[in-house]
Amino acid sequence: MFSEATPPPALLDAGALDDLVTHLDLARDAVVRAFAAADRPFSGTTPTAAATAVRGVDLDAPLGDPAATLAEVSALYLDHAVWFHHPHYQAHLNCPVALPAVMADVVASAVNSSMDTWDQSGAATAMERHLVDWTARRLGLPSGADGVFTSGGTQSNLQALLLARDEARARGARLEDLVVVTSPHAHFSARTAAGLLGLVPDAVVETEVDEHDRMHTGDLDRLLADLTAAGRTVAAVVATAGTTDLGVVDPLPSVGRTCRRHGVWLHVDAAYGGGLLTSRRRRHLLTGTERADSVTVDFHKTFFQPVAASALLVADRRTLRHATHHAAYLNPEAESVSQLPNQVDKSLQTTRRFDALKLWCTLRVLGADRLGELLDATVDLAAEARTALVADPDFEVVDGTPLSTVVFRWEAPGVDPLVLDRVNTAARDELVASGLAAVARTTYRGRTWLKLTLLNPATTLADVRHVVDLVRDHAATALHAETARGTADLGVVA
Ligand SMILES: *Cc1c(COP(=O)(O)O)cnc(C)c1O
Repeated sequence: MFSEATPPPALLDAGALDDLVTHLDLARDAVVRAFAAADRPFSGTTPTAAATAVRGVDLDAPLGDPAATLAEVSALYLDHAVWFHHPHYQAHLNCPVALPAVMADVVASAVNSSMDTWDQSGAATAMERHLVDWTARRLGLPSGADGVFTSGGTQSNLQALLLARDEARARGARLEDLVVVTSPHAHFSARTAAGLLGLVPDAVVETEVDEHDRMHTGDLDRLLADLTAAGRTVAAVVATAGTTDLGVVDPLPSVGRTCRRHGVWLHVDAAYGGGLLTSRRRRHLLTGTERADSVTVDFHKTFFQPVAASALLVADRRTLRHATHHAAYLNPEAESVSQLPNQVDKSLQTTRRFDALKLWCTLRVLGADRLGELLDATVDLAAEARTALVADPDFEVVDGTPLSTVVFRWEAPGVDPLVLDRVNTAARDELVASGLAAVARTTYRGRTWLKLTLLNPATTLADVRHVVDLVRDHAATALHAETARGTADLGVVA
């Protein structure tokens, strides 16, 4: 000890264990208080109000005290966070998180393993690899399969298309000839990836869809032949198992057969639908993934994991070599030869969290079947909600899909569809601004629709009805306002 007034330890080590416990207790109390107080999904604060409060904090004047800091964080953040566990949050692909995963995240942050090399992770690397193997086996991929955890579906898709691009180039294709074929409902990250990977601006080609909005296999077959005849090389077909908006699962078996016949890489984006791997009732919906060359699975959606946790799986581990770069200080070539397990050899990231520990603890405490039951409950609820909306004359509803989204739109007889677009948008904006509930908005067949994404097994049909009634009220009010404004515009106000 250098002086009587030594400040409390700043860093976590064996001498700071009492302080660690103090910090964990404070965190626990703050989280418990915040969850107990969250009586709606959102406070309804505005971006301006939030930014003003946040900018009032002088980051150069530390509080010097964890309790005071958490009190400040509670007022700035926890009071104005968006609560995905609240039954009236029904907007996006966010889930309430599995309890064992929260426990795991504390451990992972404290230990701070980095997954890039064996010498920064030790057994964590073996655990991540075991989970990759587990996922690949559930997908039905062959024994040569492999993969790596990533930060999300966007990154998994980017890496998949990078591997596909470099496989095509290794077979002699020119970069400017490469195309990627998707359905119009594929996630936008496929387009982003094509751009990042240096493909030409028109490189993403969309197939027709069938009457259920699934990739049309006959059209895919025709496109693959036409593109080849035109001198293009198809680097990959991206099929989706659970489209973000509608929850559509493309016909994976026939898409897979078509890709095989044309010798084209098949990537299955199962960012949303991947959780079906745990469902005993719905696992069959992923039949066909066993023929994929690569698959994206987001654990932070339908596996109830905290952000971030995703994986890219490949059928042939050798294709991962396209992501390999050797650095003398990190993963020298000699270590590949000696087969030290350096995950950076397979990853687009270098320093990387041990996100796999969340999934590990979840599977060890709850088990996959339990996760599948939780997911099944949300899919069942979506079907019930859709039936209820179909029976409701105030709403139009898009046909059902195998996942947990419901796309609908408030209707009123004789009203111009363009006005209805605006009214539905206004209803959604008002709802979100009130903080009382959250639904999403999207476009489908040229019109504006609202969307429920149901990923909370605790949400009931009564909760959905409550949210739908709020939409109805806001929409009726918005139409009234439109009509009044329209009358005023025409100058016929009495
Ligand atoms: C969510 C989603 C993505 C993007 O995943 P992130 O984890 O948000 O990066 C990609 N594809 C589909 C089908 C998705 O639903």
